[in-house]
Formats: sequence, structure tokens, C-alpha cells
Amino acid sequence: MRTIHAAVARLPGRWARDVHIGIDAGGGIVSIDEGVASRDAERVACLLPGMTNLHSHAFQRALAGLTEVASAGDDDFWSWREWMYRFMARLTPDDVEAIAAQLYVENLRHGYTSIVEFHYLHKDPAGRPYANPAEMSERIVAAARAGGIALTLVPVLYSHGGFGHRPLNEPQRRFATDVDEVLRLLERLQRHGDVRLGVAPHSLRAAEPAQIRALVAAAPAGAPLHIHAAEQTREVEECFAATGRRPLRLLLDEVGLDTRWCVVHATHLADDELRHLAASGAVAGLCPSTEADLGDGVFRFVEFTAAGGRFGIGGDAHVCRSPFEELRLLEYSQRLTHRRRNLALHAPGVAIADALWDAAARGGAQAAGRNAGAIEVGRRADLIAMSIEGADAHDPQRWLSLAVFGGAHAVIERTWVGGHSISGVDAASAQSIADRYAQTIRRLTA
Ligand SMILES: [Zn+2]
Repeated sequence: MRTIHAAVARLPGRWARDVHIGIDAGGGIVSIDEGVASRDAERVACLLPGMTNLHSHAFQRALAGLTEVASAGDDDFWSWREWMYRFMARLTPDDVEAIAAQLYVENLRHGYTSIVEFHYLHKDPAGRPYANPAEMSERIVAAARAGGIALTLVPVLYSHGGFGHRPLNEPQRRFATDVDEVLRLLERLQRHGDVRLGVAPHSLRAAEPAQIRALVAAAPAGAPLHIHAAEQTREVEECFAATGRRPLRLLLDEVGLDTRWCVVHATHLADDELRHLAASGAVAGLCPSTEADLGDGVFRFVEFTAAGGRFGIGGDAHVCRSPFEELRLLEYSQRLTHRRRNLALHAPGVAIADALWDAAARGGAQAAGRNAGAIEVGRRADLIAMSIEGADAHDPQRWLSLAVFGGAHAVIERTWVGGHSISGVDAASAQSIADRYAQTIRRLTA
């Protein structure tokens, strides 16, 4: 039995003082006592539920900051995607493991305790399976273990190059999968008991509704289901032209959405799509920094949450690795759109940062298929102890607000994943992960 004593802890919807938390050998929270003196326990100042990064393409971490030079043409999501494809074409399994390990360590340092890897890079540069068809997936598993982050791995179904059964283009051959291949991959990955497995039809561009239904029907009961939808206006237009329906409408009608689903981006929603997505209990997987970086558009967050919609946050292309920054961007995008302040989550009297953290941690855990995301008896102990630089003047209950909206740098002092203290990775292994990453980047960018 492990015990933690927090001067303040973020319990569901409120702060509590002098909180004593008991964690059993299985990593579950078994007791929470408030207003008690510190007994024989690990002592921390400010305890929060750890955040889930619910959407990751780990290899894209290596591109962060390198595509920010204007070309002669019109730069948008699609021109960025060409860049990303060229970069990806050379990646080996060693490269992917090195980049992912670095990313996962950075995520842990910034307050994430779990990650959902939306993994579509399965094949070699010629589009052939590796001798071990799960080679790339198992490199992701190894990278997560090296850092200690909890991994939900969702292998991707990617069969078409666009609406109307367009063939895959050359770079996309590395992604090519049909339903049976994804299921065989899942079977091979079952032996990694620490990994939560789900599946991800990439998008309605890359997988058609009949395939998605077949994949969902064959996936293990309760497995998390992830899909990109409505990130781009061009995608919405092409979907409408090919099917007579917008992407979310098509998903709702032809596949059906429920609490197993995470719909990533969902940026461009018609009113009825917004209402029905919110009512479905599915999580909207919002990726504020990537959506801003790629010029996707602004998610209708205020309306979606007013309709009871659930959400979490994802790093996606990893131009940002901090949940504090993602939440700030999310709220600021709404303030700029609506020309109002303090908009998120409609909770008078509640600090916006606190409300955002509560909801995103809970939604993220749902999307990861883990019973975590809140400090509650019965949930998994994925926890962080945070502070901020220059914290002394402020009550620890304000640190989260100061980190999200006050320009204060958040410092993650301790981290527990499944009840195990990982305190970041030890310095020596963090250094070897960083060295290997640097070597990889030097070679890839030479
Ligand atoms: Zn994505």
C-alpha cells in the first residue's frame, strides 16, 4: 500500500486540503481522507489527476517547428501533409522508436500520464510488411515502456487515398491496411498486457462505413475506437460530394457513435451534428495547438459543452507538449471567436483552468479506455504533483490557473502511473533517450 499526502488535491469539481490518498498494489485508489495531518506518506503540495494525451502521431514530433517557412504557393493542411509524407518516407523502425521515446518522456515531464497512439505507419517504404508485421507497433510499445507513460495503442485502418475509393498514393502505401490486417495486428499485440488496445479507422477518406462497421464488430468488447473527422473544410466538401452527407452525419447514421468513440478534431460541425455528437457520449478529441498550426479552424467548444459534449486534448503533431498550453489555446480560441472572457464550461464561480483540467482529464481517460482521469476511490492512480516557478506567494489552489493563464511555468515534481511513482525517467535513461533522439534528428535532417 502506497500513501500520498497532498496539501491540496483536485478532487472531482473542487479542491480539498490535507488529503491522504491510499493506493493498493494494483495501482487503484482505495481511500481518500480529507483534513488529516500528514502521516507516514509521500508529501506533495498540489496533486492533480494526470492528463491523457488522447491523440498522438509520435513520429511527427520530429517535424515540429521545421515546416514554418512560407512557400511560394498557398500553405495549408494539404501542403503540410506533403511535407510530412516526404519526411515519413525515410523513417525506419529504429527512428520511430527513438522519436516516440523522446516524445513520451517530454509528455511525462509536462503533466501527461497516458497517451493514445493513433498508429498508422505499419509498413516499409516500399509498402511491404516487415518480417514481423507488428514491428512498428512494438517499437511504439518499447518507447512507451522506456519512458513509463501508459499507452493506449490504436492501430489504424487505412485502405483508400480519398473519397470514392481513390487508390493510395505512393507515400500512403506505408499505411495500407484492410480490416483483417488490423485484426491480426491486434491479435499479435495482445501479449503486451500493459498496453490498452483499440482500433482506429483513419478517417472517412481512408475507410468506408461498411469497413468501419466490420472492424468495430470484430474489435474486442469495450475497445476504444478513434477516427479523424471534419478537420478540414475540403474534407467536408469532398465527403458531401461523394456521399451526399457531411462526415459526422455519415458517421452518426452509418456507423453509430457511443462512449467507446473518440472523434478527433470534429472542427467543422453543422448544428445537428454538434447536438448528436454531444448526445452520443463520444469524446471530441481536440488538438488545439495542431489545429492552430495547420489552420484547420475553430471547434465550436462553447456550444458543444453547453450541449453536454465530452472532450479531451491531444498533442497530435506535437508542436506543443504541454497540457497547460493546450488548455490555454482551447479557451483563447473561444475568446477570440466570441469576443468574451471566461467561456469554457459554463460554471459560474469556478476557475476556468480547474474546470478545463477536470473535464479534459476525465474525457481523455474515457478515450484511452482507462478508468482514470479523476482522484476518486476505485479509479487508477494516474497522478501528478505540480508546482509553478515562483509559487511562494500563492495558495497552491491557484497554481493550476497561474500555469494555464498566468504565464507561470508549470513544474511537474512527481508522477505516478498506475500507482507507480516514475518521477520522470531517471536522469541516465532520459539522457540516453535524448542522445538517441538527437542522433536520429541529425541524420534525418542532414
Ligand atoms: Zn491526427
